[in-house]
Amino acid sequence: KTVFLSGATGFIAQHIVKQLLDSGKFKVIGSVRSEDKANSLAKNFNNNPDLSFVYVKDISDPVAFDEAFKEHGSKLDYVIHSASPFTFDITDIQKDLITPAKIGSAGIFKASVKYAPNLKHFVVTSSFAAIVNASKAADPNTVFDESSWNPSTLEEALQNEFNGYRYSKKIAEKTIWDLSKELKSKFNITAVNPVFVFGPQCFDSSATGNLNTSCEFINKLVHSKIGDDVSSSINGAAIDVRDVARAHIEPLLNSEKFNGQRLLLSDVRFGNQTLVDILNELPELEGKIAKGVPHSDENIAATKAKIVNDKTKELLGFKFISLEDSVQDTANQILRVQNVF
Ligand code: NDP
Repeated sequence: KTVFLSGATGFIAQHIVKQLLDSGKFKVIGSVRSEDKANSLAKNFNNNPDLSFVYVKDISDPVAFDEAFKEHGSKLDYVIHSASPFTFDITDIQKDLITPAKIGSAGIFKASVKYAPNLKHFVVTSSFAAIVNASKAADPNTVFDESSWNPSTLEEALQNEFNGYRYSKKIAEKTIWDLSKELKSKFNITAVNPVFVFGPQCFDSSATGNLNTSCEFINKLVHSKIGDDVSSSINGAAIDVRDVARAHIEPLLNSEKFNGQRLLLSDVRFGNQTLVDILNELPELEGKIAKGVPHSDENIAATKAKIVNDKTKELLGFKFISLEDSVQDTANQILRVQNVF
């Protein structure tokens, strides 16, 4: 079976490629932005003949995917759309976040309908950002589940990059569900909606310098100094990248069961201090990095909205990797690859 995966260079996407290839059941056509990126990814995967690449330079172009789908569409069984900007280092919220997210979704979905007659399943990497109502995130009486939608408006999105990112993910996912009705698409569809994704980079070579946006939180703490203030608490919940990748592949293996579902991938709530506590359990870090006020985030879940994802857990049927293992695996890779001390 052949899978088209957009944004194959991404942190999450590389794990998807790895699991698809490791299963021995799939050939992967990955879209990347340049030949250099294709070459280094191919090398990391030992030039596996089941992995090939197409170039899609900028998903903000409404026909960015057309050429690749004209060429390969007839052999595609599955599409996973993972490319979307996840960065707060931007100058223009509309141009840098919202447009590529929205137009990217529309472009690949329309190309799938038009050029991939044998497609069985389309999976989109959405986000908890498409689910959360940010104004209620710190309200313990609020519940977010697979049916919740971020209610924010474009006007709110344009106020700052965090609102902008969350809105970009909501509109990217909504575009897929709306188009499926409008175009009466025949293939099955699943959205994968992860909270903060931690875990090691698929290859050590990516664990240098600044990491992807979510893992950079851990990278910063690994590079923190004794006495640094770590009290600013991120209002988050976490899931490991290896579980996120697996949740993209399960729908391909069991298409009917996952059709129309949103998979809310969340394990536990955490704050900055939770991460600091976990990192200080590592002998290589203990006594060398910030300590904060140990265990002061232990009751953080009680002060935040509840994330209820029983339906997702039942559909997937596997146990999530713990936050401790996820954070420590991330840190151990950084320690192995970088000259931290
Ligand atoms: P990365 O930044 O590692 O990956 C983003 C991918 O999208 C890269 O392949 C990137 O290409 C590609 N991309 C971004 N903008 C464009 C563009 N304009 N044109 C073409 N390609 C583009 O992030 P993640 O792996 O973390 O994110 C992957 C997906 O998961 C995103 O949709 C993100 O919103 C979602 N997500 C991530 C979470 C997390 O905590 N990490 C949580 C919830 C959802 P290039 O490598 O060339 O820059």
